Amino acid sequence: MSKIKISVIPGDGIGQEVVPETLKVLDTLAEIHGGVSFQYETHPWSCEYYLEHGIMMPTDGMARLHQTDAIYLGAVGNPKLVPDHVSLWGLLIKIRRECEQVINIRPAQYIEGVTSPLAEPNNFDFIVVRENSEGEYSEVGGRIHSGEDAIAIQNAVFTRKATERTIRYAFELAQKRKGRVTSATKSNGIVHSMPFWDEVFQEVANTYPEIETESNHIDALAAFFVSKPQHFDVVVASNLFGDILTDLGAAIMGSIGIAPAANINLNGKYPSMFEPVHGSAPDIIGKGIANPIGQLWTAKMMLDHLGFEELGSMLFRAIKETIGEGIKTRDLGGSANMKEVIDHIIGKLRLYS
Ligand code: ATP
Ligand code: MG
Repeated sequence: MSKIKISVIPGDGIGQEVVPETLKVLDTLAEIHGGVSFQYETHPWSCEYYLEHGIMMPTDGMARLHQTDAIYLGAVGNPKLVPDHVSLWGLLIKIRRECEQVINIRPAQYIEGVTSPLAEPNNFDFIVVRENSEGEYSEVGGRIHSGEDAIAIQNAVFTRKATERTIRYAFELAQKRKGRVTSATKSNGIVHSMPFWDEVFQEVANTYPEIETESNHIDALAAFFVSKPQHFDVVVASNLFGDILTDLGAAIMGSIGIAPAANINLNGKYPSMFEPVHGSAPDIIGKGIANPIGQLWTAKMMLDHLGFEELGSMLFRAIKETIGEGIKTRDLGGSANMKEVIDHIIGKLRLYS
């Protein structure tokens, strides 16, 4: 029996409602598998925790996370209780940094039964791989002069190491998928960092002759996400471009309530973190109507990452069939509540086994 230790941080708002319900689904999958058990170490780190303790997580918290195989997060932030910059930097960004989660990945896929804002969604299925540690979001820069003469300077930092590992990750991923990598660039306008990005992309591409590659300027690429999303397989992007593209990817799927994300540690020293794209959704707390699919899809990504691809596929099949049968929460145009969706998915998993 392999024992997988998972740090669970329900966090704030609907994270506290959805996460415990989705653990039931993980337990069902473990039962079906028979050879694995998931052991949860659940932490109450949240804005309420901050109000009580003056910190988002205890000082030994990071060390505890480091001892587990994965981090399963709900949502962080409740601006009514704690300013967002305090909660995000004190927990989410702190974990991303201190667990060296240098890559962010977000799949975008057309799911039958979810109304995409695209007129013809055409079964798209792609993943955006985003550099998550540097790039345009560097802290290098500053201001000179003031008043009429004020100048703000923001430097983007692209290291060979981070650029290459991100691009390489995209190629590795494409090998397991449809075999195409699209690079998001802007070397016609950004004259230092983007030509460098292109150069590294080409070098890495040369070592994967079997993978089809292309480079698109970010402006055109954003338009293609809308006009021909079915064209893409793996899209690799810098921190800023990836940020924009991943939100666009979630938008064309049709609901923020279903979109998943993963923050990946590449060196194996620390755990990776799995979280839905949505926030704590303060407007629907306590109503039982939160859509659990974003959280469940991120659980699927966690299962895949931990090497339980079969369980991941089974879960994803149950998710898709459940939506397809119209067992949907209100954000997807249905009338089911969260628990009904969870129960339906658990029922399906039991039927498959
Ligand atoms: P954050 O700032 O924490 O990233 P936000 O405040 O920008 O998040 P969300 O908290 O994700 O955004 O909420 C945006 C809208 O989407 C809200 O109206 C919320 O109710 C809705 N929403 C978000 N997640 C879900 C979900 N899982 N199920 C149903 N509705 C959701
Ligand atoms: Mg918010």
